Amino acid sequence: MSAFSLRPEQSAWCAELRDLAARRLRPLADRGAPGRVNRPLLAELGRLGLLARLFSAGALDLCLMRESLAQACAEAETALALQGLGAHPVHAHGTPDQRARWLPRVADGGAVAAFALSEPGAGSDAAALALAAEPDGDGWRLTGAKCWISNAPEADFYTVFARTTPGAGARGVTAFLVPADRPGLTGDALEMISPHPIGALGFDAVPVTAADVLGEPDRGFAVAMGTLNLFRPSVGAFAVGMAQAALDATVAHTRRREAFHGRLMDLQAVSHQVAEMALRTEAARLMVYAAAAAHDAGAADVPRRAAMAKLLATETAQYVVDTAVQLHGARALRRGHLLEHLYREVRAPRIYEGASEVQRGIIAKELYATADKEEQ
Ligand SMILES: Cc1cc2nc3c(=O)[nH]c(=O)nc-3n(C[C@H](O)[C@H](O)[C@H](O)COP(=O)(O)OP(=O)(O)OC[C@H]3O[C@@H](n4cnc5c(N)ncnc54)[C@H](O)[C@@H]3O)c2cc1C
Repeated sequence: MSAFSLRPEQSAWCAELRDLAARRLRPLADRGAPGRVNRPLLAELGRLGLLARLFSAGALDLCLMRESLAQACAEAETALALQGLGAHPVHAHGTPDQRARWLPRVADGGAVAAFALSEPGAGSDAAALALAAEPDGDGWRLTGAKCWISNAPEADFYTVFARTTPGAGARGVTAFLVPADRPGLTGDALEMISPHPIGALGFDAVPVTAADVLGEPDRGFAVAMGTLNLFRPSVGAFAVGMAQAALDATVAHTRRREAFHGRLMDLQAVSHQVAEMALRTEAARLMVYAAAAAHDAGAADVPRRAAMAKLLATETAQYVVDTAVQLHGARALRRGHLLEHLYREVRAPRIYEGASEVQRGIIAKELYATADKEEQ
């Protein structure tokens, strides 16, 4: 890919993904229960080879997958992304035993993964997490709570970040692979505006051993941040896919809808809004692709680019989906309408994996660090 356009084979792959999402995934998503893990949908994502692709894809491929699926089936996109988020730490840091036990089942959709970092007292400030890992014989006992965990409480295993060294901030956190059937682990589903499954987890002296550690003790924060760095531009890609779906629906609707002796598209106040939606969506897409390409090239400025891409794309998608709702009128708000679904789906990405304000903080920090370096 150049900085500005996809190669023909990449564009063809995106078209194929959109077609698969519309034909094979959309019907399964429609049969799923809101707020519940959709196992038939995951199994189909597995059969199509898309979950396995999570483990070979670079950041750009991940973005193309997420954008393309989101355009035709946001539920499938989210199911895929959550498998990636929960299982990437196992792929990147797991022992041969952990990888052999879990990754083939994640790839065929048989095992559901989840990434458990946030806590009631530690969200944006993740380094303040307090879930205690207290030494017990050869291992530890986990005691505390996690909340807002996608796929909880139905996941089959959780990547859990716990405090092994009190008072050490980011340097005292360990990542554990915790199977859902460990004694003392409980969970409750939370009802959210966001349509995908989310829950809270309780840990009552849950036993873990050295065989459950992902990476090294006290080095778990780097496991979490490495995963989020890979996924951050792709949250932007998800947002771009939703914006494109909203834009396509709006073009189709305003071409047909009759009002005031003409079509809505004939009103310049309408067509200029559609143009603005397209303009902002394309700008966000280019920034997402540029950030992903920089990640894959190992560029030095990835944190700044990834933060900019996630921030611009998620804020843009909110604007585009909201404008699409406005231009559709009442029908967009009817339960089951594409835009009713997107309106609920588009809000959360401005909060998770680093809220918009946190992304601005990263961008500013990088700018001043560069200025400091140039002055020396
Ligand atoms: C749909 C959904 C799915 C989620 N899935 C997961 C998951 O799978 N795993 C997981 O671990 N977590 C998950 N989360 C949790 C998510 O990561 C947290 O909500 C996020 O980190 C923000 O934390 P918080 O909600 O506690 O908000 P807080 O940290 O309390 O922040 C509240 C607000 O304060 C402002 N703010 C915070 N920090 C700053 C700052 N530095 N500068 C300026 N303003 C600031 C922002 O406006 C922010 O939105 C999910 C959340 C949602 C909504």
